[in-house]
Amino acid sequence: MPLLDLHLHSTMSDGTMTPREIMALARQRGVATLSITDHDTVAAYPEALDLGRQAGITVINGLEVTAHHQGLSLHLLGFGLDHQSPSLAAGLRDIQEARRARNLAIIARLNGLNIPLTLDELPNHRGQTGRPHIARALQVRGVVRSEQEAFARFLRKDGAAYVQRQLLPVSQAINMIVEAGGLPVLAHPGALKLGEPGLRQLVRELIDQGLAGLEVYHPMNSAPLTRCLALLCQTLGLVATGGSDFHGREGDKAPLGEAGGKLPVPTDLLAPLLARLNLNPPPVSRPEADKEQRHAHHPDR
Ligand code: AMP
Ligand code: FE
Ligand code: FE
Ligand code: ZN
Repeated sequence: MPLLDLHLHSTMSDGTMTPREIMALARQRGVATLSITDHDTVAAYPEALDLGRQAGITVINGLEVTAHHQGLSLHLLGFGLDHQSPSLAAGLRDIQEARRARNLAIIARLNGLNIPLTLDELPNHRGQTGRPHIARALQVRGVVRSEQEAFARFLRKDGAAYVQRQLLPVSQAINMIVEAGGLPVLAHPGALKLGEPGLRQLVRELIDQGLAGLEVYHPMNSAPLTRCLALLCQTLGLVATGGSDFHGREGDKAPLGEAGGKLPVPTDLLAPLLARLNLNPPPVSRPEADKEQRHAHHPDR
C-alpha cells in the first residue's frame, strides 16, 4: 500500500531536510501523497509541487500556523490553499516580522548573558527562522553540546533567554487559511493535554470560528484519543487528517508516512480530504488502479 503523510517540515522552517530530500525519502519509503506543512511559511511551494510531479508523488499544498485561544497555544494546519494568495502572503509577512523582532530579543538576552551571538549566524532564507535555528547556532558556536541543551538552558519557556512570541488569535489564523482557499485543521490535539471533555468543548468553539478538520492520526495522539477524535469528525462533519510531523531529526516521534507506534497514516483519509478540497483523487490512491500499476510498472514496490 502506498503511504500518506500530511504533516512534514522542511528546511524552509525547522526541518533538516530540503523539499528535494523529503521527496527522495518519500519515494524510497513508498509515500504516494504528502503535504509539506512548514511553520508560518509556504516557501517550499511551488518547488515542492514540481519535485512531486518529477517523483510521481501527489503534493497537497499546506502549512502550519500557531495561534492563541483562551490561554492555549494551538497549531493549525491549512491544506489545499493557494500558495500565491496575496492575503496569505500579507498574513505570513506579519508573522515573519513578529518572529524577526522576537529573534532579535532572544539574541539581546543571550548577549546579556555574555554570549555574543548575532543575527548573521541564523539562516537568512525565504522561510521561517525561530528557536530551533538559534539552538543550532549556539551549538555551532560551542556554547552548548546539543540543540536539546540549548532549549533546556536558554530557549524553553522558563529558559534564561526565552521571549514570548506574538501569536495570532485563532479566528484570525483560521480566516487567513480560509481566505487563501485552504481547509483549517487542528494539529496534534493530543499535544494540548486537555482530556476528552475539554477537547470536545474546544472543538465546538473552534467550529464556530470556522475549523473544518482534526488531525486524528499523529504521534502525540494516544490510541484512545485517536478513537475519540475520529468519532468527533464523524459526528461533527469534520475532515480527518494525519501525519508524522517529521522534522528529519533522530528524535522525531515517527518516520515519514507513520503516525506513531509504527502505524501508517491510514490512506483512506485521502479520498474525503481531496473531495473537500475539490480535487480529483490521484490514480495511485485508488486501490484497483494501484494494484494494476504496481503489477504493471512497479513490481518492486
Ligand atoms: P518557535 O516557533 O521559534 O517558538 O520554535 C518552536 C519549535 O522549537 C518547535 O516546533 C520545535 O521544533 C522546537 N522546540 C520547542 N521546544 C523544544 C525543546 N524543548 N527541545 C527541542 N526543540 C524544541
Ligand atoms: Fe516544528
Ligand atoms: Fe505543531
Ligand atoms: Zn508540525
